[in-house]
Amino acid sequence: MTAPLPLLESRTVGRVRVHAIQAGGQQLDGGAMFGVVPKTLWERRLTADAKNRIPMGMRCLLIEHDDALVLLDTGSGNKETQKFHDIYGIENAGAHGRTALEDGIRAAGFTPEQVTLVVNTHLHFDHAGGNTWRAPTGEVLPSFPNARYVVQKGEFEWATHTNERTAASYFEANWASIAAAGRLDLVEGEVELLAGLSVRPSPGHTPYHQSVLLRSGGETCCFLGDVVPTQHHLPLPWIMGYDVEPLVTLESKRALLAEALGGDWLLVFEHDAHVGFGRAAHDGKSYGLASAP
Ligand SMILES: [Zn+2]
Repeated sequence: MTAPLPLLESRTVGRVRVHAIQAGGQQLDGGAMFGVVPKTLWERRLTADAKNRIPMGMRCLLIEHDDALVLLDTGSGNKETQKFHDIYGIENAGAHGRTALEDGIRAAGFTPEQVTLVVNTHLHFDHAGGNTWRAPTGEVLPSFPNARYVVQKGEFEWATHTNERTAASYFEANWASIAAAGRLDLVEGEVELLAGLSVRPSPGHTPYHQSVLLRSGGETCCFLGDVVPTQHHLPLPWIMGYDVEPLVTLESKRALLAEALGGDWLLVFEHDAHVGFGRAAHDGKSYGLASAP
């Protein structure tokens, strides 16, 4: 097995410094991660453990924008039980702070209090669990007390009106204290939040899932979220079984990856255990990872 990535990988996009923070490891069922793709195909790329699980990451992106210190997604936080962590193979304890995410923010030279904008691709627990934290008193508080938090309005409605299929991924504790503090901003569609920083709807994993684009100095970086969770999901039909609208994911990927290829975008893979940043290539038949990042 390849060695896990360092906690922090930093790049410059145009004039903006960005830091990919590995906010923890996760292990999920390989079959669920690749949907209709047979194991005989996906196991050529990834080795499953005795429980058929594959190694994954929970990567967040910290952006040193001129107008805000921005954090994209927040990992799974510190509020769940050990039993819950065992089910999803989550290892995200901090060596210094309360989570690996906090350690990463500090390793980049910042504190959680300095983060002023948090964007969630969607509200699943492994993307929004670190929005809040459980204090030693038991109270659940915003992890980034000086930040406003942005998510699509439709995603918030989806998260707060669950059904038997979707309920296991959405926990009110991940947003309730933020909404109560008046710090939750619900946006609709493609919106430029700051100069060069936009949210882009990329539905399918959930109906209002969004990706995030950073443009600076002629360069573009795209935080994909769960539309392409790992480099192994670059081929168009390699779509997670977790997605509620897989054929919508297919069209989101088709559009986004065509643009990424044409614009030579720097891509961030949130759930890849090993590859944080990469670019898309197309060999005439299928998308894959470009050999030179
Ligand atoms: Zn998700």
